Amino acid sequence: MENKTILITGGAGFIGSHVVRLFVKKYPHYHIVNLDKLTYAGNLENLKDIEGMPNYTFVKGDIVDANFLHALFQKYAFDGVIHLAAESHVDRSILNPIDFVMTNVVGTVNLLNAARHVWKEDYERKRFYHVSTDEVYGSLENTNEFFTENTPYDPRSPYSASKASSDHFVRAYHNTYGLPVVLSNCSNNYGPNQFPEKLIPLCILNIKNKRPIPIYGKGENIRDWLYVVDHARAIDLVYHQGKTGETYNIGGHNEWKNIDVVRLICRLMDQKLGRPEGSAEQLITFVKDRAGHDLRYAIDASKIQKELGWTPSVRFEEGLSQTIDWYLANEEWLERVSSGAYREYYRIQYENR
Ligand code: NAD
Repeated sequence: MENKTILITGGAGFIGSHVVRLFVKKYPHYHIVNLDKLTYAGNLENLKDIEGMPNYTFVKGDIVDANFLHALFQKYAFDGVIHLAAESHVDRSILNPIDFVMTNVVGTVNLLNAARHVWKEDYERKRFYHVSTDEVYGSLENTNEFFTENTPYDPRSPYSASKASSDHFVRAYHNTYGLPVVLSNCSNNYGPNQFPEKLIPLCILNIKNKRPIPIYGKGENIRDWLYVVDHARAIDLVYHQGKTGETYNIGGHNEWKNIDVVRLICRLMDQKLGRPEGSAEQLITFVKDRAGHDLRYAIDASKIQKELGWTPSVRFEEGLSQTIDWYLANEEWLERVSSGAYREYYRIQYENR
């Protein structure tokens, strides 16, 4: 087996922590360097179980700092990059778009530059993988349409605009400088370690604390949900077997209206907490819709299935049940990440609607 040193950015976040764990455990002959700024969304507790493993190093740093990145690339001589670090929450991008431009666009271009300058066009065995979102494709109106890798970009929120921009830069560095890139665009993830500003953990937290569950509009928006461990498996396959210069769409083939996801969580939570049937649903509160809220996202994941043999392995009800169990068993984690600054954000976001 070939030895490699791989930089994973954003590895202390939700998806990144699952990717770091998978790589550190599955590839003991690789050295995995996790670079993360530890924003509100990054938490080293997500990786407690692999701390101290000999093939794992954590580095705290900011991808917006080009000089720091250049020195890091020189120090570790990376063979590959799996880039997940980002500002990732649509609502925050509506409140404060510039943070998204800095991290998602400038940060990505800084990483591309560091790779290009340090690799010096010796691209043998090198790979730059950008992990992106299906939100770059915009919104679907008809239920029989799906996003494919050829769907034109039509980002509609500051978050998706920043991710679309970074995708374009990654492809431009391939076309202009020959950088060996690969990309994937994935649908909504759920699972352990997700920050409770996102729909599923927010709902679990509020039901547990008997607080209102805020639902945008009428909850009619449709999302495709994928268990985060299945996404990490897909990232492993794309990193190792994806074709250079290509993009792979990743999705669960699992579309749900937001309101139906929330009702399912309510049912599961009532059962798990031993509360009377229907008590969680009483907490549902409809709030003013998100500005520019995309109606439907749905992914056609047939390319990754055909070319790399990837399919999701965890059924939604099963993954959701495991996710709820994780949040209920990790009360301290939840309390810690949802205190302080989070409370202030929550107040601005929901309490005046
Ligand atoms: P997250 O917000 O949970 O984690 C992001 C991580 O990036 C955090 O640990 C944070 O500390 C780190 N980070 C932020 N700014 C940084 C900076 N300037 N320098 C270094 N580190 C920084 O996000 P996530 O949900 O795990 O998403 C990870 C990636 O996957 C993102 O690129 C996102 O666009 C993409 N994605 C997410 C989803 C989803 O459903 N969550 C779906 C598809 C794609």
